[in-house]
Amino acid sequence: MMDMHCHVDLYPDHDVVLKNIETSGFYVLSVTTVPSAYGGTKKLTENLNNCRTALGLHPQLAHMRSNELPLFDSLCSETRYIGEIGLDGSKGYADHIEVQKVVFEHILAKCSEYTDKVLTIHSLNAVDAVLELLNTYPDAGTPILHWFLATKKQVEKAIVRGCYFSVGPAMLHSNRAKKVISWLPRERVLLETDGPFAKVKGQIQFPSDVEAVVDYLAEFWGIPISDVNTTLRTNLKLLVS
Ligand SMILES: [Zn+2]
Repeated sequence: MMDMHCHVDLYPDHDVVLKNIETSGFYVLSVTTVPSAYGGTKKLTENLNNCRTALGLHPQLAHMRSNELPLFDSLCSETRYIGEIGLDGSKGYADHIEVQKVVFEHILAKCSEYTDKVLTIHSLNAVDAVLELLNTYPDAGTPILHWFLATKKQVEKAIVRGCYFSVGPAMLHSNRAKKVISWLPRERVLLETDGPFAKVKGQIQFPSDVEAVVDYLAEFWGIPISDVNTTLRTNLKLLVS
């Protein structure tokens, strides 16, 4: 199983999350929010072979950290995995949407110099703008839309662009998010926690908590848990192969 969007470096206690990654054996994509955090974050999990570190520049930090783009460029060849990147049009961040677009576009252009990038993308209240830029840079890599909240039409556009969707336990507690889950094709679904930010009943989520999503999908799709596991594993294999 997998957690394709986990902020390993931002957990209050690193030992607890590292232990969880180790004992679960789940494939974990450890995302970062600024390029200067990449090296230290990678070091945290260097002894775990089921963990990969992504190079990111979070849209909520873009206006303060756009000066780290040269560092992003110099590290870009070190990893296939890019994120967290994207756009955020919600209150408090919409004011900075222009610089966010400059940063996101710079990253997509840089990734287009490679052929194999996997991108984990934040699109809160900025879905149309994210999809538009992804279509402008068709060679940037394979996008995974994380915690995707959108209309059916937007989901359809994302599917056409070849996007995957990572679904986390916190989404199961939102009717709006469950609606989105119902529109996703099974062959594009992946799992995430977005820990330690996403919480369920006040509890920080750890990679092993993705099992709640597996249970939900088995019920919703009307198939056995083992079949859900097979589907998700196949999706991951196709994505990273
Ligand atoms: Zn995140």
